[in-house]
Amino acid sequence: WCEKLLSRLDLETIEDALFFVPHRHEDRSRLTPFRSLRVGAIQSCSGTVAGLSPPPKGQPRSPFQVLLSDGSGYLAAIWFNQPYLERVLRRGQTLVLHGKVARFRGGPLQMRHPDFEVVDDADPERLHTGRIVPIYRLTEGLTQRPLRSLLWRLVNAHVPEVADPLPEPVRSRRKLLPLSEALRAIHFPESEAEITAARRRLAFDDFLLLQLGLAIRRHREGRAPGLAIRPRGDLAVRFLRSLPYALTSAQERVWEEIRRDMAEPFPMSRLLQGDVGSGKTVVAALAILNAVEAGYQAALMAPTEILAEQHLMTLEGLLPPLGVRVALLTSGIKGKEREARLEGIKTGAISCVVGTHALIQEGVDLSRLGLVVVDEQHRFGVLERASLRAKGEHPDALVMTATPIPRTLALTLYGDLDVSVIDEMPPGRRPIVTVSRAEAKRSQVYAFMKKQMAEGRQVYVVCPLVEESEASDLRAATEMAHCLRSEIFPDATVGLLHGRMRFGEKKAVMRAFKAGEIQVLVSTTVIEVGIDVPNASVMLIEHAERFGLSQLHQLRGRIGRGPWKSYCVLLTSGNKSPEARRRLDAMRETQDGFRIAQTDLELRGPGDFFGTRQSGLPEFRVADLLKDGPVLEEARREAVALVAGDPNLVKPEHRLLRQALLARWRGKLDLASVG
Ligand code: ADP
Ligand code: MG
Repeated sequence: WCEKLLSRLDLETIEDALFFVPHRHEDRSRLTPFRSLRVGAIQSCSGTVAGLSPPPKGQPRSPFQVLLSDGSGYLAAIWFNQPYLERVLRRGQTLVLHGKVARFRGGPLQMRHPDFEVVDDADPERLHTGRIVPIYRLTEGLTQRPLRSLLWRLVNAHVPEVADPLPEPVRSRRKLLPLSEALRAIHFPESEAEITAARRRLAFDDFLLLQLGLAIRRHREGRAPGLAIRPRGDLAVRFLRSLPYALTSAQERVWEEIRRDMAEPFPMSRLLQGDVGSGKTVVAALAILNAVEAGYQAALMAPTEILAEQHLMTLEGLLPPLGVRVALLTSGIKGKEREARLEGIKTGAISCVVGTHALIQEGVDLSRLGLVVVDEQHRFGVLERASLRAKGEHPDALVMTATPIPRTLALTLYGDLDVSVIDEMPPGRRPIVTVSRAEAKRSQVYAFMKKQMAEGRQVYVVCPLVEESEASDLRAATEMAHCLRSEIFPDATVGLLHGRMRFGEKKAVMRAFKAGEIQVLVSTTVIEVGIDVPNASVMLIEHAERFGLSQLHQLRGRIGRGPWKSYCVLLTSGNKSPEARRRLDAMRETQDGFRIAQTDLELRGPGDFFGTRQSGLPEFRVADLLKDGPVLEEARREAVALVAGDPNLVKPEHRLLRQALLARWRGKLDLASVG
């Protein structure tokens, strides 16, 4: 019976069960007498069933009412649509209830759909009431009481024998509970303070095991022999002279960090973080030139073909004038063309190759690879980065991310990297006015766009993906372009850009927009990254309520790049979910990518924000990236110190920790087995 119960919750071992921690606790040590209940408050109370009124026959929609008394007064508990209650509840039973107190038309106090439990005097140790009680996540057919009783037995029987993997010095330095203490307290705490202490200990373990794995990798890679890339720097100097602007001091600082790192005879593992428009591309180009001048090749890897193509276009504008050949290599490029490019890469005639995952595939001879630039966009994982690396002789790696990530996430996702941050925008950027408008205001928005175009500006109209529109009522980009061309802006040139166009066509459209030959660019989200047209001052986003927050932020980053005031119009239709509303609010309130990212994290939750599975990182049992940030910092510091003193955790006092680490990473971490 007990096994069935556990398997229903996907708990295979006793250990799994012990770590099945409650998602909240309820303080039933202080049950409020009925007469002291306050209308509007969420409270716990207990009483005896004095009367039951099930819905009358033939009226299943009427409520099921239970009248309770506790000597101080009466309380009505009310449920709709819960026919099973008739079988469960009986006069004379004692119930514990938890819920919001209400009063309906002057009747007795009520609780609607309260959490409740039938209290049995035979229960051991007053497990279900009169104390702080654990509330577990349930699945169908399970109720709190049997599960709680089971965990009570398991905790009592097995927790004392749980071995603590945390080295004693770490535990006392960080003032953490022993593991068995923490497990007991998280399930059956004596006080609120115990819950906090137990959570802190368990979250610490989650973070420590993650950070240890990352630190071990970093330690190993950082000490592996790598390329010391230190050219004279002529290419970089010529490049900088060719730019129409000077680097910002943030760009200069970051470039210096990268240059110094590349010069070391160890592989660089560096994250380049900066908001959209902060000028990461220029810095990446400098790193590429640095590798090329030293006689190596560079590869830039993007998560999608479209992004790869856009990076290619940017680099084509920057590198060839300096005599550096760039080529694209994606799975879409086939036959003779592919042969030619592979040959060019092999002979070294092509010094910079841009592509997608195809770059990792066999047949690409990147034996002179000196630098890998990865455009991350949250879509690559730690493990994928490692496989591109394996292509060359430990090339340097620079990972770019366009969305500034909250520090806790950065430490998790990129804990194996050093971090460089561009925290300053190029000068002259003017704040973008962001508004949201309902469908009814569409014609006014068009009129405004016309006015901007009359002043010489260009505009974007962004539609959701073409694929999605086939199944839904979304306005397809093609239809939109047609309509704008024929009806709304007959005097303007309207261009169309979407992911299904061939590369050559896309390139032609982007060039024409950049050259000012197109005034209105209708596009799907393909413009999210890479397009750089300072003259564009308005962006109209259709169905803005359907876009994710960081995507909206990335899109908006396409405007406000010139000296003109820029406007982002979020057009919405229909009812917006509360979440959509918060996304739109956040867009209106701030342009700070860091704050946007934090809000995005709060809205979507860490799991969805980066997808642990996809990232290849072990999952947390207890820790919460949003709540437990400070614990993460402590765990990271301890992890670094542990690895510095015992890189493979082979010391006897680290035996249990090593076991826990290997179990948690499930084969994704290979520790040297020698002692
Ligand atoms: P990111 O890749 O970080 O989104 P980009 O590299 O695309 O940003 O740069 C955005 C725009 O800013 C480009 O037009 C670029 O030419 C310009 N830019 C970059 N650095 C500077 C600078 N130091 N001063 C002025 N403009 C700059
Ligand atoms: Mg860019």
